[in-house]
Amino acid sequence: MQKEGNIKDYVIVGGGTAGWISAAILARMLQGTQHTITVIESPNIPTIGVGEATIPSLIDMLELLKIPLKDFILATNATFKLGIKFVDWKEIGTHYWHQFGNIGNKIDAQPFYQHWLKHQINNPQFELTDFSPAIALAKQNKFFIPDPKHPTNLSQSTYALHFDAGLVAKYLTDYCLSKNVKLIRDHVKETILDEEGSIQRLHLVDNDPVNGEFFIDCTGQHALLINKALRVGYENWQHYLPVNKAVAVQSEMLSPLPPYTESIAHEHGWRWRIPLQNRTGNGYVYASDYCSDDQAINILEKHVPNMITEPRIIEFTTGKRNKIWHKNCLAVGLSSGFLEPLESTSIYLIMRTMLNFVQSLPTKTIDEPTVNEFNRLIDNEYKDIRDFIVLHYCETKRTDSEFWRMWQHLAIPESLQTKLALFKCQGRLYENHYDLFSSESWYAVLEGMGVRPRNYDPIIDKSQFDKVQHALKESVNALNVNASKTLDHAEYIQRIKSSG
Ligand SMILES: Cc1cc2nc3c(=O)[nH]c(=O)nc-3n(C[C@H](O)[C@H](O)[C@H](O)COP(=O)(O)OP(=O)(O)OC[C@H]3O[C@@H](n4cnc5c(N)ncnc54)[C@H](O)[C@@H]3O)c2cc1C
Repeated sequence: MQKEGNIKDYVIVGGGTAGWISAAILARMLQGTQHTITVIESPNIPTIGVGEATIPSLIDMLELLKIPLKDFILATNATFKLGIKFVDWKEIGTHYWHQFGNIGNKIDAQPFYQHWLKHQINNPQFELTDFSPAIALAKQNKFFIPDPKHPTNLSQSTYALHFDAGLVAKYLTDYCLSKNVKLIRDHVKETILDEEGSIQRLHLVDNDPVNGEFFIDCTGQHALLINKALRVGYENWQHYLPVNKAVAVQSEMLSPLPPYTESIAHEHGWRWRIPLQNRTGNGYVYASDYCSDDQAINILEKHVPNMITEPRIIEFTTGKRNKIWHKNCLAVGLSSGFLEPLESTSIYLIMRTMLNFVQSLPTKTIDEPTVNEFNRLIDNEYKDIRDFIVLHYCETKRTDSEFWRMWQHLAIPESLQTKLALFKCQGRLYENHYDLFSSESWYAVLEGMGVRPRNYDPIIDKSQFDKVQHALKESVNALNVNASKTLDHAEYIQRIKSSG
């Protein structure tokens, strides 16, 4: 075996959330190897400035980067998130929760959901997410970080953060600069390719050209390297998910401080509400075929009290790049694709892309099989998330506007059709090891949208039903009692901030 040369010079173009998360992961994971990482950030193009709700893998990333949680919370005005409350999605006047962490535990080695289904048929008393520790806390605006040394029935709740995107970019910039990442504040005006069509050099407006061996495109919707230079096309998924615009605005902070994101369905789309320590992030996501910008702004103004910024319109195209890695270029963040922020998955996809890349680290000879396998895995991730987001819409019973009536005849991805068909028999779901959303996430949304199977799994009849019913009742009571003894979310944050 002859050792091939390692890639030493990484160049990242873009200084938004994607650029700085990419630089941070690369700097951390390549620590101890000989390399340089350069971030080029345009002084003329602002970052997108939204992207403030996350999922629990963010906490794993902070651990990987060895960033202390308290530090991060202080610097980014972060609050905790235990899940999402979906309002008016199935029908106006209804709501449901999508929890982080588990819902109940297996009984007699069978999924909790199946036992709950049987309970629903016979004298139902409890909703599915009544058995979620995270939701028991969320409903009472409570929060705590489970201590593995002192397990309780709330220990299986997991959590993520809401944060200020601008402050996160600043925090990660400082982190990266302390890890010897080089920053050039300049605008890339031209990308030079070599004779094989790989990227060789970038020409800047004010500085000398930058050579590199591997380039990471974090230029957001500009997709400067992956699209403008390398011409990698885009798979448009708007026929599955027709919303294509958002109007974002900030408002004063909420009291009490909810430990969850809220997603409220409206006439032509949905509205997010993300609570931070000092303010609230809001946005209305809509389909421009059904709603003008003025109408969207009116909806926000009607529903969001105490606005502190002017409404800002953002356009997007749902879909993904045909290849996220092509030649010596990797697209990360909005340059690689976008799915509406209903389940806060974009920042997760940034982390996932970078972690998968580090696990597939190429040498200077970039091998096709490595690139193909990487692209296959990321494709699967995107499609799984796309299907999960479509599920939030496609079973709606709403018919109060053209937007909602459209879902009665809109095509849904074949992969989702297959999954739903299987589920509707006996409530079974298959999981792939790369799926971001577990069966429990699917159960929560399916039940929230009023989708139930025709039967429960017949194996459940082995269990003694009256014992199960009793255990269910005990479990809900114990969760609610323990949640009520926990600190309020705002108080918990205060305690973290003032701890030594
Ligand atoms: C409406 C909306 C809501 C969202 N909500 C969430 C959410 O709740 N949770 C979540 O996880 N994600 C969310 N996202 C996604 C999230 O905002 C993005 O994934 C994330 O911010 C990453 O953006 P980015 O860094 O790719 O792009 P940007 O923030 O647009 O950054 C692009 C960077 O590229 C630089 N650049 C561009 N061209 C050049 C050039 N020629 N030379 C040099 N530099 C250049 C710019 O200066 C900038 O620094 C949301 C997105 C939208 C649209």
